[in-house]
This record gives sequence, structure tokens and C-alpha cells, in this order.
Amino acid sequence: MRLVDSLERPLRDLRISVTDRCNFRCTYCMPKEIFGRDFAFLPRAALLTFEEITRLARVFAAHGVHKIRLTGGEPLLRRDLERLVAMLAEIEALDDLTLTTNGSLLTPAKAHALKAAGLNRITISLDSLDDAVFMAMNDVDFPVAKVLAAIDAAADAGLSPIKIDMVVKRGANEQSILHMAQHFRGTGHILRFIEFMDVGNTNGWRMEDVVPAAEIVRTIDAAWPIEPVEPNYYGEVAERWRYVDGAGEIGVIASVTQPFCGTCTRARLSAEGELYTCLFSGVGHDFRALLRRGAADEEISAFLERTWGRRADRYSEIRTASTPDRAGSAVRRKVEMSHIGG
Ligand code: SF4
Repeated sequence: MRLVDSLERPLRDLRISVTDRCNFRCTYCMPKEIFGRDFAFLPRAALLTFEEITRLARVFAAHGVHKIRLTGGEPLLRRDLERLVAMLAEIEALDDLTLTTNGSLLTPAKAHALKAAGLNRITISLDSLDDAVFMAMNDVDFPVAKVLAAIDAAADAGLSPIKIDMVVKRGANEQSILHMAQHFRGTGHILRFIEFMDVGNTNGWRMEDVVPAAEIVRTIDAAWPIEPVEPNYYGEVAERWRYVDGAGEIGVIASVTQPFCGTCTRARLSAEGELYTCLFSGVGHDFRALLRRGAADEEISAFLERTWGRRADRYSEIRTASTPDRAGSAVRRKVEMSHIGG
């Protein structure tokens, strides 16, 4: 049965975090000062097994989910991920199986194994082509060249279309916007610019550090004229633009300045089996407890119906509607993005 929430938004898109660990320390997501050597990450026994993830995915698919995105932390840190991909790829109702990675572990062999297992496409994060800028943002001195090699590996394996996600933060990498655009023009890869968001409670977010989508679009358009393109589907996150000269497409994800909560069809499952109905939520709904006490699919399904049916999240609209800068995000405890994936 297709599920809709209290704002008539259907459940269509499930993001599954398979680990809360990452080998990067991106300052806008997992700052080193908080996620240091002593940080208590989830113990292995707390993580959902591939069998548990697949069982939940089947229940969600029966309620309208047709797209699954695997995330983390860094999902490729989870061993044998291609085994999970193969299990999920057997779910008939799914027509889009994708993954978001920082590329650090995406070797040609891994890319081919994921493709062979049933992964359709992939999103790779890259915040600049300038090593000094990129290393400052990932905060582990990981070089650009290795991420570019991962993008090539994904392309060779046929994990296309490849999306490249760039978080833009004023004072950190806005000077890289044109360089990135130039590099990916004509490649067939879709470069997406993401506004810096007040996710979690630890990234020191300030409104003045946000480079608005409109400014990013103006910057690109001044160099290479672009025109808007219709969304591919209801609830698509990125606003689409294409180069008038035919050099391809870019996307802009404007959660702060142009919220899109009205068509949000996304649910997020954390690595320990908590469902979050919004990226900025502070409340998880425990599906692991049901699984581990032997609940039948019907009971899990009923819990999902209640959870999604009551959903009324629209944080980004509220954030912007109230005091544009601090109040909303200051008082509200939110789950960390590294815990549920973007
Ligand atoms: S803020 Fe929450 S409800 Fe709005 S688009 Fe993002 S995840 Fe969806």
C-alpha cells in the first residue's frame, strides 16, 4: 500500500546509512574536534545486518519506495557492501539503487563489483579541485587526484550518470565554483552545488557562510549561459540547469534559500535501524527492536504506516520562515548528518 504523510507527500526514497564511521572529517559534516579518536562510534553488534537491512527495504518497497540510496558515514567502509547491493537489487519494486561516497575507497575493482552486484549509479563528493582547499575541507589531507581517479573508475564501470556533489561554504571554497564547472563541462557527469546546511549540532553553521543558490547560478551563467530544466521526477532534490551550448547539466541543492519540503519523499534509516523522517530531525523511530524481537512483517509494516502517516516535517521551510539565522537551529537537537547520510 502506497503511503502518504500528513502533508500528502508519498514515501518514495529511502536512504540507508550502513555505517556511522567515515575516513574523512569534512568540517561541515563531521568536524574532527567532535569526531576525534575517542568518539564512541556504533559497535558492530549495533549495526543492522545486511539481512535485516534487506528485510526492512522489502517492507518499505511494498509501501512505495522505489529508490534506495546507500550512505554512511562513508558506506564503502562497510565490508563486502556489494553483497548488500546484490540482496537489494533482487527487490523487484526498486528501479533505482544508488550510493553516495567520498571516493576514497572506490577502486576500479570495487566499482566493477558494485556494478555487477546491481548498483545503477553513484554520487561522489568533491568540494574543490584545489588540493589545499579540498584538504582543508575534508580535514584528512586526502588529495583531489584520488577522487578524480575514483570518478574515472565509476565511469569505466558504467555507474552512470555520475553526480559530483560539491558543498559550497563562503570563505572556504566559493572560489572553486567556476574551476569545478569548467572541469566537468562536457564530461557527462552532473556537478551539483549544495548550499551549506545547519545539519546536526556540530558544524558551526552560520547564515553568512551560506552561498545562496541564486549567487551560484549567476556565477556560472556569467561564464557559460545556462537555462533551467524541468525536474526528472516529483520530489527531485536538485534544481536542474543545462548549459545553453550543450556542454551538459548542473544541479543546485538549495535547502536553505529555496526549501523543497513540499515535495519531500525521503526517509532515512540509520545504521542501527532508527528511521528519521527528516534530515534535520532529532527523533528516530526504532525498527531494529522490532526486527530483533521477531516481529512479523505485518507488524513492521504497521509501524511504518504510523510513522510515515504522522510525518509533518518541513524543517527547511520553518528555518527560513522564522528567524533566518539562528533560532530554529540553535535550540533544536538534530541527528548528525554523518549518522544518517545526507
Ligand atoms: S528539511 Fe526535512 S522535510 Fe524538508 S526537504 Fe529536507 S528532509 Fe525533507
